[in-house]
Amino acid sequence: MNNKVLLIISDGVRPDAIGAVTGKKDFSLRLLQSSYYTMNARTVMPSVTLPCHMSLFHSVPPERHGIMTNTYVPQVRPVKGLFEVLRAAGKNAGIVYDWEELRDLGRPDSIGNGIYMSGHIYDYNNTCVKLTEKAIEYINECSPDFVFYYYGLTDAAGHGHGWMSDEYMSAVSKVSGCIEHMLDSISGYTVIFTADHGGHSRGHGSDIPEDMTIPIIISDPSLEQKELGAASILDIAPTVTDILGVSPDPEWEGKSLIR
Ligand SMILES: [Zn+2]
Repeated sequence: MNNKVLLIISDGVRPDAIGAVTGKKDFSLRLLQSSYYTMNARTVMPSVTLPCHMSLFHSVPPERHGIMTNTYVPQVRPVKGLFEVLRAAGKNAGIVYDWEELRDLGRPDSIGNGIYMSGHIYDYNNTCVKLTEKAIEYINECSPDFVFYYYGLTDAAGHGHGWMSDEYMSAVSKVSGCIEHMLDSISGYTVIFTADHGGHSRGHGSDIPEDMTIPIIISDPSLEQKELGAASILDIAPTVTDILGVSPDPEWEGKSLIR
């Protein structure tokens, strides 16, 4: 496998929006061709952006890291997150994002080159495209071992127009186009695509399947397409460290998905 990892999270993307299972082919199928994937992974409760991201990056449920809303509070008994573990192992990690609250996913000295672009001020539609260019530039210039690349557009469309609405589906297609462009422009990375949570009607946060079910796609030219069994958002950090040849933190509760 490529020994660097690009983790792409598109906020609030439901597996049934991706089209892989429905055959709509409106999502980046290139990602799926050589991949281990599941369209039936589980996120954590509350199915809210910051708690879910904290669980993804720290491989523990919200009751352990303590962040239950979109307002960050320091952990009482801190669990090391992916960024801290990678920094301790001498790996370079970066983050490219358009939702500012994500700045707290790692301690300040553990994230090398963060690129933040305000989606709220400039509108997520344009930010999505500009951010892709920034990310490509950053990856080709700095060649970080790990990059987390985040899109807020899909969640904004869900809240604005409803999950699975035409506007939401076109946001998913737009993100897919950005990912295609990205894949054309970089090399040497295993790409993991996922979402923090799903959504229904004009929101999310509950424990119904529409909110709790997320896709996970681990894509690398060396992989033969395989559907994964049970998988959780907690499994992503251990999968990243496994690909990078780094030991997971002993407190992490997830498991590597490439074993
Ligand atoms: Zn949301």
